[in-house]
Amino acid sequence: MGAAQQVTDAFEELYGTAPDGVWAAPGRVNLIGEHTDYNDGFVMPFALPHVATAAVARRGDGVLRLHSSDVEGGVVELSLDALEPGTDREWTAYPAGVVWALREAGHPVTGADVHLASTVPTGAGLSSSAALEVVIALALNDLYELGLQRWQLARLCQRAENVYVGAPTGIMDQTASACCEAGHALFLDTRDLSQKQIPFDLAAEGMRLLVVDTQVKHAHSGGEYGKRRAGCEKGAALLGVDALRDIAYADLDASLERLGDEAEVRRLVRHVVTEDHRVERVVALLEAGDTRAIGPVLTEGHASLRDDFQVSCPELDLVVEAANAAGALGARMTGGGFGGSAIVLAEAADVDTITKAVEEAFAAAGFTAPRVFEAVPSAGARRDRG
Ligand code: ADP
Ligand code: MG
Repeated sequence: MGAAQQVTDAFEELYGTAPDGVWAAPGRVNLIGEHTDYNDGFVMPFALPHVATAAVARRGDGVLRLHSSDVEGGVVELSLDALEPGTDREWTAYPAGVVWALREAGHPVTGADVHLASTVPTGAGLSSSAALEVVIALALNDLYELGLQRWQLARLCQRAENVYVGAPTGIMDQTASACCEAGHALFLDTRDLSQKQIPFDLAAEGMRLLVVDTQVKHAHSGGEYGKRRAGCEKGAALLGVDALRDIAYADLDASLERLGDEAEVRRLVRHVVTEDHRVERVVALLEAGDTRAIGPVLTEGHASLRDDFQVSCPELDLVVEAANAAGALGARMTGGGFGGSAIVLAEAADVDTITKAVEEAFAAAGFTAPRVFEAVPSAGARRDRG
């Protein structure tokens, strides 16, 4: 049975009526461009085949009912008038935050019944939270005929996560879930949200992209993320720019010079400026059809995140080291870091050898066995039925 049928059946079981429709929104992997999104810079995610699927029906009485098959417990019932940022510490804050953000922006949402199920692993750096937000936003956009565009839905979802949930994340995850296209990576300028779909069909070229979930759970709203953000803001202020995005790659050395003995800020600035440049290099290589050449750029990006931005962890470093030693074209951590997942670009013929090498390295180091799967660039959020 497909996911749409499953959530439809479960919805009917829970609420005693049929849903108005079923929507799906994917998790994402970021190919390159890490910790650049809150610096007004470039990112390049693509959507996973893993999705949050939601069956949703309108209500007219100011009530929001929420249920997830992935969480213990029954239906949670909330009153729309009582939604208040920062008050909900449970998973329901994500969908409720979206409803709050829509209403706050003046959109006439009067309630909903929701049942959802997701195949996006949570806390693995694959953006299960954005999948959850975007699937709700898209459903309500359709059901209430709000006429919002994808990028606008992404903005509202980001606001839900930043303000209602209280996690200071950038705009990448929500935009990826809302806007990605199958067979493409999304080149996104996070300053003006301009986008370009870049063909990224690895299978056609005899390559694969593996995701290695280290099973180390990251905590995004935790202090380290906030510290890096604050450090980047300090760097921009010291250099007299709005955001680090405004430092041209050609001016990097001069800018670092100006930062003098601010050693930590220098490291952060160097990562962000070189990372924006790496995104542009990857776009140029892919557009030139030189896909294999992006491998070393990915590995360079990992070194920068490990040494300059200092958001990696031993497990992520080991994936990159073991995969590259076993013949990968390149590898890097993806997502915010401190755990979560890494990506490995490889020739199709080398996938088994590389997977085995990574698993063996983890066993030898005494780490929990990683979960390895292939990531095929997939479609963004869509209506599945109804
Ligand atoms: P990530 O987005 O990297 O997976 P986050 O910490 O940002 O990690 O978001 C994970 C949180 O999102 C979970 O702890 C849970 O609150 C919520 N969530 C994600 N998927 C589901 C789901 N299927 N059902 C209920 N809550 C979910
Ligand atoms: Mg998240």
